[in-house]
Amino acid sequence: MKERGLLIVLSGPSGVGKGTVRQALFAQEDTKFEYSISVTTRKPRQGERDGVDYFFKTREEFEEMIENNKLLEWAEYVGNYYGTPIDYVEKTLQEGKDVFLEIEVQGALQVRKAFPEGLFIFLAPPSLAELKNRIVTRGTETEALIENRMKAAKEEIELMDAYDYVVENDSIELACEKIKAIVLAEHLRRDRVAPRYKKMLEVE
Ligand code: 5GP
Repeated sequence: MKERGLLIVLSGPSGVGKGTVRQALFAQEDTKFEYSISVTTRKPRQGERDGVDYFFKTREEFEEMIENNKLLEWAEYVGNYYGTPIDYVEKTLQEGKDVFLEIEVQGALQVRKAFPEGLFIFLAPPSLAELKNRIVTRGTETEALIENRMKAAKEEIELMDAYDYVVENDSIELACEKIKAIVLAEHLRRDRVAPRYKKMLEVE
């Protein structure tokens, strides 16, 4: 049987740049993780494609997925549902491949419960002021929404304790390097590697 892949969870406050870091990671040829495409009820933004960026669903379809236990985790975030289809995650881990989730913090906490052996990386903003700046300059949100997102972000930073690693998003390039280094190190942990050696000795 193949050794199971790692479940890598990248999470952190809204506006910190999780999506940008994830896109940068997956644009690099040597990135070997498999991206788990989420399901959402929010409307596609310009340029987003169904089945590539998200699986776009109605609220009814999403609620049906919740009822039928099709989601590893889900959260309602700024008025929309977001969730991770469980079948893809399970199948890909079984194949020995690493699965990468980029999700908000409530969902990450649920995954932590279901997969305590996962690798949980918190992407942190260099500072809260910078965070607000980034949300405002994105220019797609209203004032009230910005305030909501900021409030949520302050609460989310307190949740850092639930993670294994913290990567500050001071530069996208550096953040990607750090994430790859963390994953590499995780693969080399004694408790992952030792069983392979023991098996080898059994055969000899
Ligand atoms: P956006 O609408 O900007 O694409 O995403 C909003 C937030 O939802 C981001 O923080 C993103 O990481 C998070 N998100 C995306 N997919 C999922 C998911 O499957 N589950 C959860 N819990 N959050 C998600």
